[in-house]
Amino acid sequence: MELTDEIMVQRTTKSRLPEVDFNKLGFGNYISDHMLICYYKNGQWEAPSIVPFGDISLSPATLALHYGQSVFEGLKAFRLDDGRVNLFRVQKHYERMLRSLSRMCMPGVPEEIFVEGLRRLIEVDRDWLPTQPGGALYVRPIMFASEAKYGVKIADEYCFIMFTGPVGSYFANPLRLKVETDFARAAKGGTGSAKCAGNYGGAFYPTQKAKEAGYDQVIWTDARENKYIEESGMMNAMFVIDGVLVTPPTSDSILAGVTRDSLLTLADDLGIPHEARPIAVTELENAFRHNAISEAFGAGTAAVVAPIATIHINGIDHHLPATNDNSVMFRLKNRLEAIRKCQEEDKHGWNFLF
Ligand SMILES: *Cc1c(COP(=O)(O)O)cnc(C)c1O
Repeated sequence: MELTDEIMVQRTTKSRLPEVDFNKLGFGNYISDHMLICYYKNGQWEAPSIVPFGDISLSPATLALHYGQSVFEGLKAFRLDDGRVNLFRVQKHYERMLRSLSRMCMPGVPEEIFVEGLRRLIEVDRDWLPTQPGGALYVRPIMFASEAKYGVKIADEYCFIMFTGPVGSYFANPLRLKVETDFARAAKGGTGSAKCAGNYGGAFYPTQKAKEAGYDQVIWTDARENKYIEESGMMNAMFVIDGVLVTPPTSDSILAGVTRDSLLTLADDLGIPHEARPIAVTELENAFRHNAISEAFGAGTAAVVAPIATIHINGIDHHLPATNDNSVMFRLKNRLEAIRKCQEEDKHGWNFLF
């Protein structure tokens, strides 16, 4: 029998949907009525169940809290004009979750629980999908070591949860970023390419320092020499230099963003020249000096593209020119959104419709 054949659904008796102001969704403000929860014990996955979203109780000895075996994902589902749901690039997110889990010595969550479980969860909370343009249902899968033992070891028990929440269109103000050359997010051989909890906790301090200095985020550089651009917050970094879309190659210190992959694929489709290659901080400085850099943006699921207005390098604020409808970032974003809404052919097989 398949694990998801026996999926138990316990519906809430009191939906929180009436409390939602769909005109002021923002990001991360609401959580839908239900969650999927599933445990791994004795070397195997138990049957998942869909239950009302709520607290879970944990022992203070829970291994994840001490030693950080905790991995997450972030993806989005969209409501199409014909009422169907599109879960965008779910397979790619699932594969990345498996890679993150493997790096953290955690067992792979079965595909049927992740993909089929998510389809059922979204069906139960279908009314939570925003209808307004740009709205989406954000999906947060998380898995952590739930075993209660305080000796340092790889856990034998895990908890996998998926919950969702409606989010609005994300019109970020153009970002002011600081190129970070003192602190590092991820080193060669480290866990930077895994979406694991510890990477984010360690990034807070340098990010807070950058905020105090008047910036929104840092742009990380490589931990060895602080010479090469890596990424920023929960976004991959992209630039247009001399008319070419450039982004650092993925490595063990850069997270392989699904949005990054989508945008590079679409650049190919649209005939926009692009390169994934190391970008030195000095190359950026030179490009600013010669007005060769026309665009800089972050790429990630939350915003698709987040325009960058200012980049601080070694004591100097460099400013990007204003964007317009012909900007590479918006041409890519518009194409991506058209595919997601089934207004353009999905020739790469990115949509999962139900
Ligand atoms: C999630 C994340 C990204 C963006 O990945 P997407 O799949 O495009 O959302 C980039 N960098 C880091 C560190 C991330 O955690």
